[in-house]
Amino acid sequence: MGLVDSTSHADRMEQREQQIRQAEELLGSLPQASGVAKGMFAGRFVDDWVFPYPDLTGIERAEVEAAVVALSHFCDEHLDPTRIDREADIPRDVIDGLAELGLLGMTAPAEFGGSGFSQMGYCRLLEVIGGRCSSTSIFVNAHHSIGMRGLLLFGSESQKKKWLPDLVRGKKLAAFALTEPEAGSDASNVQTMAIPSADGSHFVLHGQKRYITNGAIADVLTVMARTPIEDSRETAITAFLVTPDMPGFQVTEPRMEKLGIRGTATARLAFDNLHVPRENILGPIGKGLKVALTVLDFGRTTFGACCTGAAKTCLRLATDHARSRRQFGRPLAEFELVQEKLARMSAWTYAMEATTNVTAGLIDRGLEDYMLETAMLKVWSTERLWTIVNDAFQIFGGAAYFTDLPLERMLRDHRINQIGEGANEVLMSFIALTGMRGPGMRMKEVSEAWRHPWAGVGTVGHFTSDTLRMRFRSPAVPVRAPELRSDARRLGKAIRRLGTTVQWTLVRHREEVLERQLVLQRIAWIAMELYATACTLSRWDHELADNNHTHDAVARLFVADSLRHVDACFQGMRDNHDPLLLAAASPQDVPS
Ligand SMILES: Cc1cc2nc3c(=O)[nH]c(=O)nc-3n(C[C@H](O)[C@H](O)[C@H](O)COP(=O)(O)OP(=O)(O)OC[C@H]3O[C@@H](n4cnc5c(N)ncnc54)[C@H](O)[C@@H]3O)c2cc1C
Repeated sequence: MGLVDSTSHADRMEQREQQIRQAEELLGSLPQASGVAKGMFAGRFVDDWVFPYPDLTGIERAEVEAAVVALSHFCDEHLDPTRIDREADIPRDVIDGLAELGLLGMTAPAEFGGSGFSQMGYCRLLEVIGGRCSSTSIFVNAHHSIGMRGLLLFGSESQKKKWLPDLVRGKKLAAFALTEPEAGSDASNVQTMAIPSADGSHFVLHGQKRYITNGAIADVLTVMARTPIEDSRETAITAFLVTPDMPGFQVTEPRMEKLGIRGTATARLAFDNLHVPRENILGPIGKGLKVALTVLDFGRTTFGACCTGAAKTCLRLATDHARSRRQFGRPLAEFELVQEKLARMSAWTYAMEATTNVTAGLIDRGLEDYMLETAMLKVWSTERLWTIVNDAFQIFGGAAYFTDLPLERMLRDHRINQIGEGANEVLMSFIALTGMRGPGMRMKEVSEAWRHPWAGVGTVGHFTSDTLRMRFRSPAVPVRAPELRSDARRLGKAIRRLGTTVQWTLVRHREEVLERQLVLQRIAWIAMELYATACTLSRWDHELADNNHTHDAVARLFVADSLRHVDACFQGMRDNHDPLLLAAASPQDVPS
């Protein structure tokens, strides 16, 4: 029994069935080609998704480098994160300045006034802002990475022509409105209704949204609402373009008071008899959840970039402080427990940058099936950054507590990362379950085939040979540098072991695995570490090819630490005290 047991077993089963139906519908509409993450769950390594390490092409590289210099200069002159935090506002001249630099429409095509930058190029710029001011990076993310992304990806030509030029130039601002009181982590539970008018010319929206970044300052909002499905009693989510001048659009709270990223305007909204013209439907009707999840793929990549920027800032501040502050007659940097923190910060920062770059590269190559990789990047980077900020804080000791240093603000600002754009617990279950779906379906096909052995002989044969291959042969990880071969072999072995562990888990837990979140969490961590290790090896290999040994120590530490964590998770699959933990989760004496 859980701590709160207000729902009956039958209700829970019904809810679960419904969730499975929704997930099947959603995942069924997405491509199933095996990418690097899905491949790892089947014990394979799809190497060309990670090797060679991706880089910007010649012309774009020069443009991005110039933009990074211009943005850094602008930030030095005009961006004051302390003031933004204290006054809980990003000044209009900062927004205008960012718009002038092109940052509010960087990835939009030139025909709409954008720079046509790749996701990788855009990530480099967001890293600069993320390293300085999280309020500003989240504002830019809400506007560009998710607010106008739906339009860029799913907008019709006329919608793009109408809205994009002003959004790209920052004359108008955008927001993305999915979350509601009853639809937080359970994003599919949107309650806002959009009923078509009798003549079909418009939809009438009723409902509420909350926690919407830019919600009260945006001129265009991508709003998710539930629409009836023709000839059915069921409903589905559809995306709409909503503007605040539409009668019935209400801002119930323009700037909710909050802990961190205080410069962002986080709003509560209500729609009361709001008429939205039919031509404002964004993407196919009834496919709003797919629109939302695709948009969030982009947002999660820029999360990685912003985390990388913040991690670099923490590393710089902590290293400077550890070298200059003396206690017991020595600089702090000479104590092993301080060195441990600095070393791990450096290793994680290096890996975070590599993983962000590879993931952005997947989007730029036009691959479609990167939702697992973006989710893994988001969870892994935000978890690691939280420890990095905490460790930097610890190295500063009491000084970090005071508002004349940025660390107390950074601690407040970065707490949102593990919650926003999908709470990490929810994403970890998603990563493990989506990753295991392919092998699970394969095993189901095989068990069906056993029932009709002659018809299914090919299926059983392929499955058996794949399983044998996985048991005895590890996939190759194609590093060029001889000194990386042993790490590459260890990575290959761990990927093989993930494949066999997934099969074992599916046989052991069957469909009950959906509820076994402690198991799913271990599998998700294994997959995230293996992905980060593969990206790190790719970057390191690329550097060694240039005879660049600058990062050898941090890269070596990262790979060793990460694979050690993977081993611990594998061990925990068979050797754990999960039942004890679950029994203690509903204590008899909850403090009153
Ligand atoms: C400052 C801020 C800005 C935001 N900006 C936007 C925005 O611009 N647009 C937008 O649409 N939304 C926005 N959000 C909403 C954000 O995406 C949600 O807060 C997030 O999805 C979590 O939903 P929730 O807060 O309702 O938490 P809940 O769904 O109530 O979950 C609470 C906690 O319960 C746990 N949990 C929930 N479900 C599960 C599960 N299945 N398994 C295990 N654990 C679980 C998790 O630990 C989670 O953190 C913003 C939120 C904040 C705080």
